[in-house]
Amino acid sequence: MERTFAIIKPDAVERKLAGKIIDRIEASGFTIVGMKKIKLNKEQAGGFYCVHRERPFFNDLCDFMSRSPVIVLCLEKENAIADWRKLMGATNPANAEPGTIRRDFAVSLNENSAHGSDAPETAAFEIPYFFSALELV
Ligand code: UDP
Ligand code: MG
Repeated sequence: MERTFAIIKPDAVERKLAGKIIDRIEASGFTIVGMKKIKLNKEQAGGFYCVHRERPFFNDLCDFMSRSPVIVLCLEKENAIADWRKLMGATNPANAEPGTIRRDFAVSLNENSAHGSDAPETAAFEIPYFFSALELV
């Protein structure tokens, strides 16, 4: 079993798409081991995305991620990291496969509805950034 970290981003929560995205997560065989709705401030968003701090899109990304609430999840499944990335689709919704969350729901490259860890080391940083061990069941 493997765990990954997911976010339903502000653009999707604002448009009341959380239920549809959670339905796809469960229908794809993931077990939700942690989930909560939170509102990030800009510093918290920047800490989460610190690997991108030198990128030109960093400031806009932090503004976007802190503008309204998000739903953070810890998901468990065999091959959870790769399978959640596949279900989300490519970062740019214009390049995402049909039937993926980003292809079906994303607004733009920035406002792309979902986040997923991209490697085991990333998941190991991201899950405890948001969840204590007691919150994972
Ligand atoms: N992003 C952006 N412009 C870009 C690349 C990324 O606004 O040119 C945003 C987008 O919201 C993306 C996030 O920054 O999801 C993190 O980028 P990353 O390359 O890690 O993509 P992801 O892992 O989310 O697919
Ligand atoms: Mg990434």
